[in-house]
Amino acid sequence: TYDYIVVGAGAGGAVVAARLSEDPRISVLLVEAGISNEAVPPVAIPLMGLSLTPNTMLDWNYTTTPQPGLNNRAIAYPRGRVLGGSTSVNYMVYMRGSSDDFDRYASVTGDSGWKWDNMQQYARKNEKLVAPGDQHDTTGEFNPSLHGTSGAISVSLGGNPTPVDSRVIATTQELASEFPFNSDMVGGDVLGIGWAFASIGNGTRSSSAVGYLAPAAGRPNLDIVINAQATKLEVTGKVGNVPSFRRVLVTEKAGAAVRALTAKNEIVLSAGTFGTPALLQLSGIGDRTELREAGVATVVHNPSVGKNMSDHALLPNVWNVNNSDTYDSVLRNPDEFNTSLAQWTKDKTGPLGSHITNNLGWLRLPKTASIFKTTPDPSAGPKSSHYEMIFVNMRVNPNTPAPSTGNFMSVVLALISPTSRGSIKITSSNPFAKPLINPNLVATDFDIFTLVEAVKAAKRFVAAKAWNGYIKDAVGGLETTNTDKEIEAYVRENTNTIWHAVGTAMMSAKGASYGVVDPDLKVKGVDGLRVVDGSVLPFVPNAHTEGPIYLIAERGADLIKKDF
Ligand code: FAD
Repeated sequence: TYDYIVVGAGAGGAVVAARLSEDPRISVLLVEAGISNEAVPPVAIPLMGLSLTPNTMLDWNYTTTPQPGLNNRAIAYPRGRVLGGSTSVNYMVYMRGSSDDFDRYASVTGDSGWKWDNMQQYARKNEKLVAPGDQHDTTGEFNPSLHGTSGAISVSLGGNPTPVDSRVIATTQELASEFPFNSDMVGGDVLGIGWAFASIGNGTRSSSAVGYLAPAAGRPNLDIVINAQATKLEVTGKVGNVPSFRRVLVTEKAGAAVRALTAKNEIVLSAGTFGTPALLQLSGIGDRTELREAGVATVVHNPSVGKNMSDHALLPNVWNVNNSDTYDSVLRNPDEFNTSLAQWTKDKTGPLGSHITNNLGWLRLPKTASIFKTTPDPSAGPKSSHYEMIFVNMRVNPNTPAPSTGNFMSVVLALISPTSRGSIKITSSNPFAKPLINPNLVATDFDIFTLVEAVKAAKRFVAAKAWNGYIKDAVGGLETTNTDKEIEAYVRENTNTIWHAVGTAMMSAKGASYGVVDPDLKVKGVDGLRVVDGSVLPFVPNAHTEGPIYLIAERGADLIKKDF
């Protein structure tokens, strides 16, 4: 037996396993359903992240339910199924969130430990700022005093300059009142447009498998097992009047032998926003009616399990450009690709050593926006945004295949403060059956309003003089949008997700009438179980989610250690 069994080796689980096993007295087993990150070489190559999902052996290959807000389209919803979890297949944009995000987590949980100021110690444990792959002079691109330099995850500014970057920055000068420059978004105030960080070191992906698990893997008190899917948690007794869940059933695949593993202290669920609530439900912890429909006996009735999902809807907007130096050609032309691969193999530089964006922006609707007459501002606070702009030196569109010719640039919009909430539920007691995943994207007036306004903002952005002679015409349907009605139709037809779903096992105050875990991440109403992953975040943050989840997991590991 082990002191702790951690289920899932993603952003959350890898941190917990690595931090707990720093103490040689603590024995830890980490079980991961997927394969090794080292089994698939492109995992390490940043720009090849685009090819790792959806529908591959590294992906759980989920599809959402038809989304009413998106003209009833069902969309692919990738999740990493590999050591490192989604951090092994994601696009590596690295941020912390806004100070408002964490202060709101503290206020809804009644635990000041989740406040932004307290969480900065964990940001420093997570971040190791390193030079960008091309070693360029980064003066003016960030504020060194805000960054960690000795954490687990290598973080760097873009390592391959693109023709888009200087034009984005020039636009922040030309249109400074609407699109101000932000000298560094990790400082708590995300608003404005600035340079983007990525979890990349030496032109190579720095996932939780690379940054946390690899250095810990040799410890005698840590065992890491891959191809091991947890299928159910079992009741092992009672403490007071609550059931203990200290046993987990694990198997390689449907029909293979099942092993029962027992933890002396706790089982830590880090199976992610979909995996964690699904496993709770399979084990009888969830909404009584939903469990009955799925054929699972209820052990603990908690209607919050699988609810409250919030996500960032994503809308790519694409323009033709007058420049052949875009990533479109690298990714579609085998000769160019092979040249880039040779360069990456030699010194980890060039297009493949970089990630998808060098500049991001976080923006608010104007205070006078008509939607605020009917919807209270859902943003986390004044240093937080309603939508994001991501500037990409190629065509991005998860809905349709890339054309065989052309050079493009995209302003990808993400809806950062959605009021829509989605859910996940199992439909069968069979752990290999896919759950119903409903992120419920763009389901409210606020969400559609904000995306329509964001499209108009993106059009104003690229109308700046800085883009003269570079941008040609809009494509992909954007070119025929003029009225708000036309833009709305375009939004509903083209919106997807940026895969940031959180909240399905949300934390809430002790004794609250809703929520799945207490502020110390212990599952309510049971003994022996904690959750440490994206599912505990009550609201999706002002960030690409790996960073905030890393921070939550660093503190989560501390909370667990304190109880040892
Ligand atoms: P995960 O990292 O998904 O880890 C969960 C782990 O649990 C997985 O390894 C999974 O296989 C395992 N697991 C699940 N169920 C079981 C089970 N029953 N038994 C055993 N193991 C199980 N975020 C960013 O910050 N920047 C980005 O650029 C970015 N791009 C993204 C691109 C894509 C395509 C995707 C899918 C995500 C992206 N994200 C990005 C999101 C980010 O990666 C996730 O929010 C984050 O990794 C979630 O952390 P987690 O610990 O909650 O879950």
